[in-house]
Amino acid sequence: MNENLIEAVNQNLKEIINPLSKIDIISDKTVKSVELKNDKIIIILEIDPNELKIMETIKLKIEEMVTNSVKGNPVQVIMTSHVSEENNASSKPSIPPNLKSPSIQKPKINAKTNPEGVKTIIAIASGKGGVGKSTVASNLAVALASKGKKVALLDADVYGPSQPRMLGLSGRPSSPDGKIILPLRNHGVTTMSLGLMVPENESIVWRGPMLMGALQQMLNQVQWGEQDYLFVDLPPGTGDVQLTLCQKTNVAGAIVVSTPQDIALLDARKGIDMFKRLNIPIIGLIENMSSFICSGCGMTHYPFSTGSLKEEANKIKTKLLGELPLDLDTRVASDSGVPIVVSNPKNSTSIAFFDVADKVLSLDLR
Ligand code: ADP
Repeated sequence: MNENLIEAVNQNLKEIINPLSKIDIISDKTVKSVELKNDKIIIILEIDPNELKIMETIKLKIEEMVTNSVKGNPVQVIMTSHVSEENNASSKPSIPPNLKSPSIQKPKINAKTNPEGVKTIIAIASGKGGVGKSTVASNLAVALASKGKKVALLDADVYGPSQPRMLGLSGRPSSPDGKIILPLRNHGVTTMSLGLMVPENESIVWRGPMLMGALQQMLNQVQWGEQDYLFVDLPPGTGDVQLTLCQKTNVAGAIVVSTPQDIALLDARKGIDMFKRLNIPIIGLIENMSSFICSGCGMTHYPFSTGSLKEEANKIKTKLLGELPLDLDTRVASDSGVPIVVSNPKNSTSIAFFDVADKVLSLDLR
């Protein structure tokens, strides 16, 4: 009964759009919690004190809407503002001293801007880890660069930033003035990674505010230069990194990577739903590890089944950008720091990557 009531309130709140973030107040996390205490509905909002005026209007709207909808239960809306953890030393990552900068700017929630010089941002996402999202991000970036485009890659996969390894990058990015960070470059792609900001083999528990600081630092302080495309290798799932990226920058669209088995697709759908809520178009889906050609018998096998991504793409009216085979050389190439599109452009996976790159080039993204 209580759950039904809370669910009904949540449904109401989903209809209220925050004029600053341009999405509903549940999705943009303005609503911190909804509770029922002695029949009273208590809604807690997390706000930025600078935006108090607009939040007051939202508060009134919530009170009116929920009171009319639930009829009978008193409604109380409480606004809170959490203490910034930017100054909390224990929550900071061990960023190399020359990258430490006190001036992590906290962009306003309504300031949707691309890093200077960057034309088109494309998010590479997946529901689960290990489905080949980073492999797709690096090969697609390099394939587009080989076609004459200016391409950059931001590795924001907090759980396993693998682009330094996949693109053969080592060393730390330098910061001549302690503010601007100079990205690294290899295989024609300008790259910055969370993995380059912490010492190798050091485990770090990224806490929310610290992660947001690092992401914003990579977006705003890295000197990306003129770029036709900036690919962002997102962490798997639906979390703060995805939300922050979509709220702070103009993401032109997302490419969702999944293996074809039900269990992976189930999570990929959640990602697709999240982008839909954030008004980010899905550019297309990529089915990875689609098939496997046995080197012994020469037969094609489908270890994870096949075809489900095509079905899903049809269902959500987007494109299936490619079906990439499971291929030993592709894995070896990634591990060695020379993506397969460079080490063997004639390999069947490389051909599929170049084809995806052509499809991306043909789109009018902005
Ligand atoms: P994610 O970014 O989704 O966690 P990765 O791109 O890191 O996944 O891939 C996980 C592992 O699978 C890596 O070792 C990678 O080289 C390998 N891999 C990815 N796609 C393929 C493929 N099509 N064929 C063979 N190995 C692959």
